[in-house]
Amino acid sequence: MRLSQYFLPLLKETPKEAQIASHRLMLRAGMIQQSSAGIYSWLPLGKKVLDKIAQLVREEQNRAGAIEIMMPTIQPAELWQESGRYDDYGAEMLRIKDRHERDMLYGPTNEEQVTDIFRSHVRSYKALPLNLYHIQWKFRDEVRPRFGIMRGREFLMKDAYSFDIDSDAARQSYNRMFVSYLKTFARMGLTAIPMEADTGPIGGDMSHEFIILAETGESGVYFHKDWLNTDLVTSVDYSEDLQPVVDRFTSLYARADEKHDPANCPVDEGDLMSLRGIEIGHIFYFGEKYSEPMGATVAGPDGSNIPVHMGSYGIGVSRLVGGIIEASHDDKGIIWPRAVAPFDVAVVNLKPDDDGCTACAEDLYARLGAAGGDPLMDDRDERPGAKLASIDLIGIPWQIVIGPRGMANGVVEVKNRATGEAVEVSPESALSMVMDGAA
Ligand code: ATP
Ligand code: MG
Repeated sequence: MRLSQYFLPLLKETPKEAQIASHRLMLRAGMIQQSSAGIYSWLPLGKKVLDKIAQLVREEQNRAGAIEIMMPTIQPAELWQESGRYDDYGAEMLRIKDRHERDMLYGPTNEEQVTDIFRSHVRSYKALPLNLYHIQWKFRDEVRPRFGIMRGREFLMKDAYSFDIDSDAARQSYNRMFVSYLKTFARMGLTAIPMEADTGPIGGDMSHEFIILAETGESGVYFHKDWLNTDLVTSVDYSEDLQPVVDRFTSLYARADEKHDPANCPVDEGDLMSLRGIEIGHIFYFGEKYSEPMGATVAGPDGSNIPVHMGSYGIGVSRLVGGIIEASHDDKGIIWPRAVAPFDVAVVNLKPDDDGCTACAEDLYARLGAAGGDPLMDDRDERPGAKLASIDLIGIPWQIVIGPRGMANGVVEVKNRATGEAVEVSPESALSMVMDGAA
């Protein structure tokens, strides 16, 4: 992409309404624009990151055996009346009437909708286990939408729903999602701590919240310091028994502030850490809570009809965009982990009116693209300082800076955004550094 032809509305001023780094940086980097309280448009740079995160989540869901579907955003009230949640859910639910005066709602979550799909089609335990997920916009009329897209009213969530014949099988489905969450967040360069959680309005028996560490997080967490250096479950294979893996992780201490009891904490004071964090995922096992009232039953091995055991598994896809920025930025701007970066590399031509610089920039830009990279070319008619500052701000992992001084010696500068290290090398080496380098 050529910056001269892109739509990247950068802000020079720090927006007053933004209280935390991610909100400030997303506005300044032209990623989002507020439409009304807690509701945002995603501009090209933001949309690109959102899609990358969604794709990574999708890959890990598929790997764990979940199957993608797409359910609507607007749901009929009847389904929620069947489960009993229509009245319970309260003011967070956006209730709508259609032209025929039918009660509809903008889905805050999809347990009822997916249970309806299941009961319409699945008759036998032989179809189990089954895990269906989608990545879809949700609406919750939050009392205090804030921190930009971190606590929005409209937000993008991945929600998966598992169906099993009994609680033992459901536990295995839960474990697969537990492990897949750790894998997903590790790929984004995040340390995510699963913390035993209350089940809230979803209800149920077993639940973990996944918290990523950030000073501005809304949740306080006490945890064993080993969480910071565990080589997360990247090598765990879904064909092995996951119970010992999950047990190993859940045995490592992690408690919400309000549940931490210093007098009875099993962790030595020297090993205990207390930080703030952001909830980016939440998983639940709730057994027959929806299948029973909604009649989602299957014929078991002996022919008798049994309500299925269900779990649900959410990831805040849009919240993750902010969460990753909270975990990875400096005073110059965002530092994207390569896996979710909007572009792999920025080619910064400091002097577009210099033929040598432009020939080199064009050549590198073309070869980076041909090598499978996704380069952003800064070919704007701007001061060098302004170019470098905006590329730092938008956080592209690598920068190749081309200027007349380097050109005279046949070199360009390659800078790693995360470490700040810069070296002068030939354009040839710049290409291989960027394409082979992990950032
Ligand atoms: P919170 O405790 O932050 O209000 P929740 O427990 O109500 O979240 P869940 O129902 O568990 O949320 O939803 C699953 C995930 O969706 C959460 O872990 C979070 O990442 C994301 N999420 C929930 N509410 C919002 C919101 N208002 N804006 C953005 N993301 C959200
Ligand atoms: Mg939650």
